[in-house]
Amino acid sequence: MAGNGGGGARKPKARLLRLVQGAALGLGAPLGWQLLRWLFDLAPTHPRYELVLDVYMAVGGVLVFAVFGYHLGRKEQRLERLTLVDPLTSLYNRRHFELMLETEFARHLRDGTDLSLLMLDLDHFKQVNDTWGHQEGDRVLTTLAGILRAGLRAQDVAARVGGEEFAVIMPGVGGAGAMTAAERLRCAVRDGTFVVGPGTRIPVRISIGVASTERLAVSGPSELFRLADDALYRAKGLGRDRVEPAWPGGAEDGPGSC
Ligand code: GH3
Ligand code: MG
Ligand code: MG
Repeated sequence: MAGNGGGGARKPKARLLRLVQGAALGLGAPLGWQLLRWLFDLAPTHPRYELVLDVYMAVGGVLVFAVFGYHLGRKEQRLERLTLVDPLTSLYNRRHFELMLETEFARHLRDGTDLSLLMLDLDHFKQVNDTWGHQEGDRVLTTLAGILRAGLRAQDVAARVGGEEFAVIMPGVGGAGAMTAAERLRCAVRDGTFVVGPGTRIPVRISIGVASTERLAVSGPSELFRLADDALYRAKGLGRDRVEPAWPGGAEDGPGSC
């Protein structure tokens, strides 16, 4: 494909490398056997010749395939990680987020367990970039990702779904639980230490939209996403630095205090 020249050029190299590695390992087995024969003076007439050859072939074969397989497996894991994870923040990327949302929505339909979704967006983030530059803005995004990771449970799925937009899938969590978690995250960001430039601490705020299958009739994952996103949009309109639920009546309490 046009524009994919770099990756296309690397592929044959990797294939060739594996071919040579495989051939070298394959050649190592008969060479090793010849070495053993020479070292221990093993002639085909030796009474234990067949037994030693069998043991050598079994142990050698297992070892060679195990080492080669382990090596390839590690490469595979690294490549798989690249396809799932956002390189800046190490949170999941949008593609994986969409797959996880589909999976968790299917589980919600199958088991009847609640499913909640938070959509988060940094407030006035453009100002950070404009004042401190894009690179320092990236530092803020990385720090924010760390705060999200620290504030979530193992079963929650946090992802970077846009430039400065994040999402958290909360399996098994209802509306009240999701609101509490969202407030906790908003406060953790308020209290967070965001450093830019040589050592300037800046305040960072986020707005959050919350949708939950426990409070709303939701037909599918994309509707859950849209509902959380609409709620986030409302949170922005209501003044930012606040959590807004997608169901009615949530705005009555006003923004919570940290
Ligand atoms: P709001 O409170 O309405 O969300 O205001 P905002 O300034 O955060 O939103 P707006 O949509 O106007 O601007 C988003 C900014 O996010 C613009 C862009 O410079 C910045 N941004 C998007 N992706 C990245 C990124 O990967 N790195 C950095 N440093 N900045 C990014
Ligand atoms: Mg923003
Ligand atoms: Mg945005």
